[in-house]
Amino acid sequence: MENILLKNYQTPYNTAPFSKISNNDFLRAFKKAIENAKIEIDAIVNTSEQPTFENTIEALEFSGEQLDRISSIFFNLNSAETNEIIQKIAQEVSPLLSEFGNDITLNEALFKRIKSVYDSKDTLNLTTEQQTLLDKKYKSFSRNGANLPEDKKEKLREIDKKLSQLTLKFGENVLAETNKFEMLITDEADLSGLPEGAIEAAKQLAESKEKGGWLFTLDYPSYIPFVTYANHRELRKKITIAAGKKGFHNDELDNQNIVLQITTLRHERANLLGYKTHAHFVLEERMAKTPEKVKSFLNELLVKAKPAAEREFKNLQDFAKESDGIQHLEKWDGTYYSEKLKQKLFSLDDEKLKPYFKLENVINGAFTVANKLFNLRFEKIQTIDKYHEDVLTYKVTNSNGEFIAIFYADFFPRKGKRNGAWMTSYKPQYMKNGQQERPHISIVCNFTKPTKSKPSLLTFNEVTTLFHEFGHALHGMLANTTYPSLSGTSVYWDFVELPSQVMENWCYEKEALELFATHYETGEVIPMDLVEKIKESATFLQGMQTLRQISFGLLDMSWHGGESPVAIKSVKEFENNAFAGTQLYPDVPENCMSTSFSHIFQGGYSSGYYSYKWAEVLDADAFEYFKESGIFNKEVATKFKDNVLSQGGTEDPMVLYKRFRGQEPKPEALLKRAGLI
Ligand SMILES: [Zn+2]
Repeated sequence: MENILLKNYQTPYNTAPFSKISNNDFLRAFKKAIENAKIEIDAIVNTSEQPTFENTIEALEFSGEQLDRISSIFFNLNSAETNEIIQKIAQEVSPLLSEFGNDITLNEALFKRIKSVYDSKDTLNLTTEQQTLLDKKYKSFSRNGANLPEDKKEKLREIDKKLSQLTLKFGENVLAETNKFEMLITDEADLSGLPEGAIEAAKQLAESKEKGGWLFTLDYPSYIPFVTYANHRELRKKITIAAGKKGFHNDELDNQNIVLQITTLRHERANLLGYKTHAHFVLEERMAKTPEKVKSFLNELLVKAKPAAEREFKNLQDFAKESDGIQHLEKWDGTYYSEKLKQKLFSLDDEKLKPYFKLENVINGAFTVANKLFNLRFEKIQTIDKYHEDVLTYKVTNSNGEFIAIFYADFFPRKGKRNGAWMTSYKPQYMKNGQQERPHISIVCNFTKPTKSKPSLLTFNEVTTLFHEFGHALHGMLANTTYPSLSGTSVYWDFVELPSQVMENWCYEKEALELFATHYETGEVIPMDLVEKIKESATFLQGMQTLRQISFGLLDMSWHGGESPVAIKSVKEFENNAFAGTQLYPDVPENCMSTSFSHIFQGGYSSGYYSYKWAEVLDADAFEYFKESGIFNKEVATKFKDNVLSQGGTEDPMVLYKRFRGQEPKPEALLKRAGLI
């Protein structure tokens, strides 16, 4: 039987042949492609030739190409256009893929060859990119214990097994705690202040559980409107404390002990592999490099942001006192009075802005910006396949008419697409046998759909989202490297948001807005006082916001970058010590942050929470450079393209950044932009 996924596509630009793929093709294609990839690995291991960079590292890099191609089509569809069949296949395929991954990292004969190349690296005359690739391949083994003696390898596997069970349990407990809490309101007067939509949703939720009245829960769509708008202070207190108490009830869903076990095991694991702490282990593969650097980074920001944060807090406190006679501003008052104060100061209404941001205009705006900066041209192309009729397809060329990339854009929500917005690719850029392979990049969003009478008009938040994802897309499209695993967005985690976040800056600039922010009916350019208001409101309470992010980053570093947690007795006490100097509101003794801090105890953010602020410092510092010589300055843009966008992960990001900027990033530009200095 024919299986299109296993053949040459024979499509224009070798694009994914969506219309010819049947869901039934996937499983068989995956199995066959894994088999083929294994044959390629075996060939590397079993050759009688001495290990060289080419026959080992490069051969490993280019192995499994067919499998990668199928995986990217499949998993992209599972995010953007899924259905029950695809989801079922995903469940079947995921264990096969992780088993295949393990087969490689545990392949001792393969590691022996890699190590032999690695040990002789100084004599090999490798290019910088080749050195990076060699280092990356070697570390993908050594960081998983390949250098350890058998008994320690066994120990490592034990720790990993325990850790995956504990992090899973941590998440299950948080979820169970979230689902457990219910606040039923039966007196309509208690709903005062809440918007119509929130009241309606609470009524429906109560009905679905066969209850009268209005039901509120700790789910964000229920919780956030309540703490933002409900006038009833005692009820705000009740639900806020419940939210802060997840995993902290001394019952079967308690996470205190799990936090201590996870951090102790991570510390042990790092020691076993020769690292001082878990943070040292994680940060080795980050731009920040060491816990010391992260801590000094956070503390420097703290010193500079704290006075502004305290000023803002005092304003907010005064405002609450004037409005409602509140003597002491508490955690359950923060969101509520922030919203009230924001309304009073800005009265910025999305509906006022939306007519200036028709989707087509905004897309063309992003294209024009990319043209002015990087000489790119976007031309609609109708001859390639798409997985849904809503998807837009473009051929991207440079000013010499050379082919740069295929660009897909999929903007509207529908059943089968997950929430949020993201950039992804169907094919990376790389060079093979002297042949340049150009990438196929896609962005997927969930913007307001057009209706019969109205085009799609974006909120300002959607506009910055589009520019953000487009920035990631430029990183992918402008890639110019040799190896696919170092291409485009394949960079260290605390560097990957630079190209995306920096693009958002153009949305606040008059010179850029004039290019595309015109009224969809009258053609009038957006009034500058509206733009000023957008800018001002973006700095609203930024000091408090910054302090909060810093406090989470420092807590993360305390758990993962210090002494072994084995001696810690009280999670709450440890946490309060870590928070010292960053708190504005009075402590709530019955609450604990760590027991529901899923980012670091369940998701992949352990020793990485700082990267939110880190990326902001980078993007503000980079944009400052543009602003110094004009936001469309070709020279600066070319430097950015040549040293950052085209380079992917071929070199250490700090080296790349300094080559672009002439110096290390400094926090001043961010502090200025956020209105803190
Ligand atoms: Zn992003």
